Amino acid sequence: MRPLTEVSGPIIDCHCHAGTGDGLTGPWDTTAPIVEHQARAKACGIVHTVIFAAFNSDYAAANAQVADLVRQAPDRLTGFVFVHPARDRGRVLPMVRHFVERERFRGIKVHRHDAPITREVCDVARELRLPVLYDVTGEVAQIELFATEYPTVNFIIPHLGSFADDWRAQVAFLGFLSRHTNVYTDTSGVRRFDLLLQAVREAGAHKVLFGSDGPWLHPAVELAKVLALPLSPQDKQLVLGGNLLRLLRARRQTIAIGHDSAARTHARGSTRLLTRAPELKRTR
Ligand SMILES: [Zn+2]
Repeated sequence: MRPLTEVSGPIIDCHCHAGTGDGLTGPWDTTAPIVEHQARAKACGIVHTVIFAAFNSDYAAANAQVADLVRQAPDRLTGFVFVHPARDRGRVLPMVRHFVERERFRGIKVHRHDAPITREVCDVARELRLPVLYDVTGEVAQIELFATEYPTVNFIIPHLGSFADDWRAQVAFLGFLSRHTNVYTDTSGVRRFDLLLQAVREAGAHKVLFGSDGPWLHPAVELAKVLALPLSPQDKQLVLGGNLLRLLRARRQTIAIGHDSAARTHARGSTRLLTRAPELKRTR
């Protein structure tokens, strides 16, 4: 692993779960222990993490749990609103607006395992100018439809389109990633390193975001993949945090980046980025 001193700019994890689920079918709907994850994240220099709920039968309640966690560490955590496109139908706007306006959440999370994304969800994202992190579970063809219909909405499709390592889906996804200016991906859970390499070479480093899919995956292991990519320092900084900050900026949003010992590991570069982007606020 290359030393973190080579990294300029803050390292921000765009994909992490938090809170307690009510399922008991697996870790994904049982518990996402963020405290342990945050200790791991801090140890490897991650200064800020986007969190959203685990699978839940009631996302209003699950989002409220996430809001409690964000309130306890606003300089290290930012929330995305988890919505179920079918079960929350008819109330997506008030639900998302509540967490954005009252709790400063900064995006929407949707999972195809719950239901396919709907026009209602995309309309809300467009109206409130929020990015949507949508796990398509390998069903990449729908990207063509929503990315075309909603050109002003930025979609982050995690895992190169398939957490299950569906190679066919991931290879097909690279075409959507290159072709649509509003389609992004994250690095979380991707095992085939050469596909990540292909993503940054073909679509560009500006389309790829570092994510861990914590707390179930270790952030340092996920980070090592990004550090192993043969990128220029500028491109590496985009993947490690610059791209996410750019997507959040569409709404003139701010996130507070904590100033602690881990952040100081690469503070010189961070300061440069932070002073260039006035909407970023550094707190102590
Ligand atoms: Zn996830």
